Formats: sequence, structure tokens, C-alpha cells
Amino acid sequence: MNILIYFAKRFVAGENLEDAIKATRILNKNDIKTTLDFLGEHTLIKKEVSKNIEQYKKLIRSINILKLNSNISLKLSSLGIDISKKYCLKNLSYLVKYASKYKVAVTIDMEGSKYTTTTINFYKKLHKKYPNLEIAIQANLKRSYKDILSLIKRKANIRLVKGAYKESSKISYLKKEDTNKNYIYLLIKLIKSKGFIAIATHDQKIIEKAKNYFKKYNVKKYRYEFQMLYGIRRNLQIELADKSFPIRVYVPYGKKWLHYFYRRIRERKENLFFVLKYLFRS
Ligand SMILES: Cc1cc2nc3c(=O)[nH]c(=O)nc-3n(C[C@H](O)[C@H](O)[C@H](O)COP(=O)(O)OP(=O)(O)OC[C@H]3O[C@@H](n4cnc5c(N)ncnc54)[C@H](O)[C@@H]3O)c2cc1C
Repeated sequence: MNILIYFAKRFVAGENLEDAIKATRILNKNDIKTTLDFLGEHTLIKKEVSKNIEQYKKLIRSINILKLNSNISLKLSSLGIDISKKYCLKNLSYLVKYASKYKVAVTIDMEGSKYTTTTINFYKKLHKKYPNLEIAIQANLKRSYKDILSLIKRKANIRLVKGAYKESSKISYLKKEDTNKNYIYLLIKLIKSKGFIAIATHDQKIIEKAKNYFKKYNVKKYRYEFQMLYGIRRNLQIELADKSFPIRVYVPYGKKWLHYFYRRIRERKENLFFVLKYLFRS
């Protein structure tokens, strides 16, 4: 496990709030904003959910008091969606209201497809009252085109991602080329709408295409930002910031880093080989 922690540190700021603050300060110094995620998913015990909420409240106050250039990201499964939808919506509404009091924006991460409809419904319920709210939409899901059409009608703020969860061929594109094609298709739809767009990818080809579209359609910088994950394509993050492109890095922290870490390892076989090579050598 200790060896895994060593590797996880590439993708996770640390186990405590102080680690997340430290990582944010370093990134902010380089003109890179952050979105802070307190790790923990599929929480099945109400006491644990309450702890997650308390941690998020502490995080929100810290961002405000320390004037960090940051917002927060959260998962419905850390707020009790697996316990009950009603309970989860109550928790989400409470946190979003709390964050708005401290002028901290919130993004709802998108998890596996069994949560997609509920996540979008919750977003629609809260977005009217809290226009800063953002939602992640996954380009690998075939339904995302329709979801985006219904969201852009509401001037939603959308973080467009490729999708990190394994889904069936019935509902998702399995080939990378198809997901990439859909990503661009959805991106153009978003550009032609009025909401805020977060281009959350490390894919340089997509980033270059997005830059060209922003120029072609005269999309002002306040309407978009690039987003990347902590520890991935760090040079590209700095390069975009140096060229004055708006950029935000997703910084996860907390003791429950294992699920997040596995998703990052699975995404790129080089990561897996690197870990295995090290494990067999030691
Ligand atoms: C800010 C942000 C928020 C996200 N939120 C969500 C969410 O809410 N729901 C969701 O399902 N997914 C989310 N994701 C993850 C996303 O869906 C992808 O799984 C992830 O970003 C990898 O895809 P990619 O777009 O970078 O493209 P890829 O084609 O996977 O990668 C492009 C290039 O990026 C680099 N790269 C990508 N991943 C890794 C890695 N793990 N290790 C090292 N290098 C890598 C490599 O150089 C690779 O060639 C988020 C991603 C970002 C950046």
C-alpha cells in the first residue's frame, strides 16, 4: 500500500486540506486556477456523508478566507445518492447554498451511467437559483447530445469530458476515435450556445481544435476555460497559462484516493506498466 501511495501522489495533492491548499497556491502562482475535490465516493453511511459535507464546508471557507483562486468539484455518491435520492438532493442543495454564500462555484462531477439522469435532473433543479453551478457531461455516452441540447436551453455551464467510467457498447462509444469525434461535435454545439464551457481534456489535438474554434466563432475568454487533472500534462498546463489561456486544474485530496487513482492508471497503459515494473523490481 505504501508503494501505491507513492504513485498516487502524482495524481493526488495529499491526504489533508493543507496539502490541497498548498497545491492550489503553487498552481495559482503560475496563473492556474484550481477546482478542489475531497475524495470519497459511494458513501453508504449517513455519518460518513455528514463528514464529507463538513469537510466541504471547511474547504469552502478556506477558499474564501485565504482568497484562493479555486472552486470545488463534488460527486453525488459522496453526498449519499446510494442511500436515497431525496437525501442526496437535500445535501447537494445545502452545500451549493453554503458555497454561494462564500462566493465559491461548484461543479458536479459525472459518475457512472446509472447516475446520469439523476445528476442532470438535480443540476436542472438547482441551476436556476445558483447560476454558477457547473455539470460534467461525458462525450463517450451516446445520450450526451440530447442532454447537451436540453442543458444549453438553460444556459448551463458545462465541463465537457471524454468519460472515465467503463460503459456498455449499447450506451457508449467504445472506440477512442468515436469518443473524440463526439467530443468535437458536442464542443461545437456548446460554442454556438451561450453558456460557459470547460474543455476538460489533456488531448492536445482537441485543445488545438478548440483554440481554433474559439478564434473562428469569436468566443471571448470569459466564456471558456481549459481544465486538466492534477499531475497530468503539467508542461501543457503551464504553456497554456503562459499564453494567457484560462486554465483550471482539478486537484483531488483526501485519504480515500484509491478509486480515483485506479481510474487514472486505467486510462493510460504506460501508467500501469510503470507501476508494475516498480512493484516487480522491489
Ligand atoms: C478537469 C477534469 C475533470 C474531469 N471530470 C470528470 C467527470 O466528472 N466524469 C468523468 O467521467 N470523467 C472526468 N474526467 C476524466 C475524463 O473523462 C478522462 O477520463 C480523462 O481526462 C482522460 O481523457 P483525456 O481527455 O485527457 O484524453 P485521452 O485521450 O485519454 O488522453 C490524451 C493525452 O493526455 C494524457 N493523459 C490522459 N490521461 C492520462 C493519465 N491518466 N495519465 C497520464 N497521462 C494521461 C496522455 O498524454 C494522453 O495521450 C475529468 C477530466 C478532467 C481533465
